[in-house]
Amino acid sequence: MTPSLLLCCDLDRTLIPNGPQPLSDQAMPCLRRLVSRPDVKLAFVTGRSRHLVERAIARWDLPMPDYVAGDVGSTIYDVGPQQTWTPWDTWDLAIGSDWRGRTHADLRAALAGIPDLALQGEDRQSRFKLSYTAPADIDTSSILRALSARLDSLDVAAEVIWSVDETIPVGLVDILPKSATKQGAVEFIRSHLDVPPARTVFAGDSGNDLPVLAGPLKAILVANATSEVRAQARHLAEVAGKSGDLYLAKGGYRGMNGNYAAGVIEGVVHFFPEAEDWIG
Ligand SMILES: [Mg+2]
Repeated sequence: MTPSLLLCCDLDRTLIPNGPQPLSDQAMPCLRRLVSRPDVKLAFVTGRSRHLVERAIARWDLPMPDYVAGDVGSTIYDVGPQQTWTPWDTWDLAIGSDWRGRTHADLRAALAGIPDLALQGEDRQSRFKLSYTAPADIDTSSILRALSARLDSLDVAAEVIWSVDETIPVGLVDILPKSATKQGAVEFIRSHLDVPPARTVFAGDSGNDLPVLAGPLKAILVANATSEVRAQARHLAEVAGKSGDLYLAKGGYRGMNGNYAAGVIEGVVHFFPEAEDWIG
């Protein structure tokens, strides 16, 4: 059975209400009813590792997803009805060739010593993801230039993603195979499930969600996103000619505030009015 809807959600400050804004009480029960339908598939698309996703599910009582694209899209798991979390080797093959046989350790050695970049802990690293922190207010262009130069000299096709964790605040730098993006992972899951693009929607809140928010699929920006991200998303979607496929949650649906899961629900009903009945 082809799913009626594939809902792909970022976690931190999109489904997980771990920002300063409040979460409406009804939001999570609504989401739970929506994704409990067998024809609705839920995928988490997140910077978190499997371990940190499992911790978040328990801590925030999130619905169990069908798929998890973790480590900013560099690993995909089929969670399965028994929660076996089977990694998709086909995804590793698809993205692994970008690094031309170079390993995490090779890249780490080549990138050592760049000023202001600090490697994150081992639980934030994975086979195809290097993660660093940097001061949030730094000149990002010089860091990105230094990284690009060293990656070019290794002849690897890598993507460097800059984002800011507004809660701390700290800058986050993720280095991934070029095709191991959130966008690529969403597309891989979508095509594996054979869900039409028009029945697929992504929800996010921050900088590393922007390529998907402004990409070819329907997308939702939750209301708790910063005004800067909102302006960037609107601009990028306009440039890409897909303004109609980007929904900026504003609150008001069923008296909810549009933050986190409330924004996701609001956007899903905007794009798929029939979901109103699914939520009950
Ligand atoms: Mg987020």
